[in-house]
Amino acid sequence: MTTDATAEQIGFADLRLRPELLRALTGLGYEEPTPIQREAIPPLLDGRDLLGQAATGTGKTAAFALPVLQRISQDGGGAKPSALVLVPTRELAMQASEALHRYGHDLGTRVLPVYGGQPIGRQLRALERGVDVVVATPGRALDHIGRGTLRLDSLETLVLDEADEMLDMGFAEDIDAILEGTPADRQTVLFSATMPTRIDAMARRHLRDPVRIQIEREKPAPGETPKVRQSAYVVARAQKPAALGRVLDVESPEATIVFCRTRDQVDQLTETLNGRGYRAEALHGGMNQEQRDRVMGRVRGGTADLLVATDVAARGLDIEQLTHVASAVNEVIRALRGTTLKGRKPIVRRERDRAG
Ligand code: AMP
Repeated sequence: MTTDATAEQIGFADLRLRPELLRALTGLGYEEPTPIQREAIPPLLDGRDLLGQAATGTGKTAAFALPVLQRISQDGGGAKPSALVLVPTRELAMQASEALHRYGHDLGTRVLPVYGGQPIGRQLRALERGVDVVVATPGRALDHIGRGTLRLDSLETLVLDEADEMLDMGFAEDIDAILEGTPADRQTVLFSATMPTRIDAMARRHLRDPVRIQIEREKPAPGETPKVRQSAYVVARAQKPAALGRVLDVESPEATIVFCRTRDQVDQLTETLNGRGYRAEALHGGMNQEQRDRVMGRVRGGTADLLVATDVAARGLDIEQLTHVASAVNEVIRALRGTTLKGRKPIVRRERDRAG
């Protein structure tokens, strides 16, 4: 993050943004750009590719959205989309699309979210009428490309948002297939909260001489708790252990607590997980203090990475290396990030600062 005093003074007005965009930002109460906006907007307006390591909450959506909108307004929107934003989930598609719509309101930019689960008819009609920016999940984007309803030959900018999540969700091949049908001289922007080698390889395949930006997540002030990301997966009861295993494999957390309602469930799940090769320890009220201390010793010492517990037994535990918390779930088919859960118990993950 730039801490240079002069950089701190750069306001939205210094970023060469059009008055319509500046008006929208003022209307939204954005007083000054966030660090990623200061660093990313100028090179993006110049047409450069960009590889950004930044998590949600840093203002990265506006960092790519404002230059996308400005470029479209300069070149004039055509019948086919000028920009495509790929995101991992329906929730993010809606969020990013709303943000683009708000920022581009005075420019009259036509933005369409396209995701699975929504009736395709409405999307088809909107695409037919003409859209400037499509915000899509990779699967549904590919579906429309196959039908010939999403035409990418006029694409100027492609944004891969939360690229690490998209890879984790198995979208790598879809993304490659989508990119294949886009103009070689397009601008490509990739944001990812983490930069594992797979993301680096993806950037090498698809980006040209990108500007690299790394924004650390803001550290909470002393005394404040860090932000927690929560995800919920709704699954059938019988599939819960398998779903939990899948989440653990994808997340590879340092240490996790899994909560169950009863002692029997704790014992059963511990056995199942150990049978599947995880290093799980049980903790519940049926154990004496010495047994519990032994378990906690193994978790703290790193010889066990999963603690399966009833909430009573786990109350007040302080485990320094804990990164994830899971709770029993009733049903899961898809990730319900940010959605209200109507009495369902989510698998919740607690994600501490892992960036950097
Ligand atoms: P993001 O990281 O893109 O998900 O943005 C996080 C939140 O910050 C969103 O609610 C944005 O509306 C808000 N935001 C983004 N940029 C700014 C800014 N410059 N000033 C104030 N709020 C902002």
